[in-house]
Amino acid sequence: MNDDGTPTDTAVRFRCGHGAAAGEARLTLQRDCPLCMLLDETKRSREQLLHRVAPASRAALAQETRIGTDYEWICSRGHSRYSASVRETLTGPGCPKCQKNAQAPAARFEGGVPFMKPGLKLRTSQAEQKLRMLLGERIRLPHRVNAIRINRIFYGKPEVWPDIIIPALKVAIEYDSPGRDKTSHRGLKEVSDREKDAALEEVGWAVIRVRADGLEPVGRYSIVTPGVTGALVDELITLLGQIRGEAAVAALAQRPGG
Ligand SMILES: [Zn+2]
Ligand SMILES: [Zn+2]
Repeated sequence: MNDDGTPTDTAVRFRCGHGAAAGEARLTLQRDCPLCMLLDETKRSREQLLHRVAPASRAALAQETRIGTDYEWICSRGHSRYSASVRETLTGPGCPKCQKNAQAPAARFEGGVPFMKPGLKLRTSQAEQKLRMLLGERIRLPHRVNAIRINRIFYGKPEVWPDIIIPALKVAIEYDSPGRDKTSHRGLKEVSDREKDAALEEVGWAVIRVRADGLEPVGRYSIVTPGVTGALVDELITLLGQIRGEAAVAALAQRPGG
């Protein structure tokens, strides 16, 4: 067996179409291949991954199913190529030079600063959008920030992109749902969620995790909820008050009618 539980020496085909060719498959699994699953969990596409790999390996990576395979990667800032597994590329520190730069003293003063990352495309669920809308009816949420600088490297960048950012309170809100396959925010993703929280806490931010659809509470501030409801927003407002003080939250309150 491989470490991902799939049999070796067997022509395995996955639901996503990767693995053995349809005619040669001795076993077809009714789930996506490990690589597609990790892409889904980390909200990346295979296309994005293919843009980062050395051109000679592009064809192989396009068909890759395993997350432990090593490839040569190209740094988007023009540093020399580096070797890392697919898993490390999606969840680890990425380019060693970039990592070193981010740890340099010059980069540190920016830790905790929220900013607008242009062209940042993240898949936003309807639940996340609804939460933002309902919360936005209660307190003023900025539209011009979508990222926060951190003092370490997360997914290859010195920044994180929380679901909702409240700069005035230095609080980030993450909406976690197990998703279609009931696997997101569990296992490997849960470890990286914790790392993300730690990176934000390190630069003075608090993270509230809204844990929906059966997910267990995790981290310092969690709210378990069956979905996005008015009661959830009430709980969020209360928790924000506990973290930063009710006066600070009241200062952000939307005026009735405005
Ligand atoms: Zn796949
Ligand atoms: Zn680099």
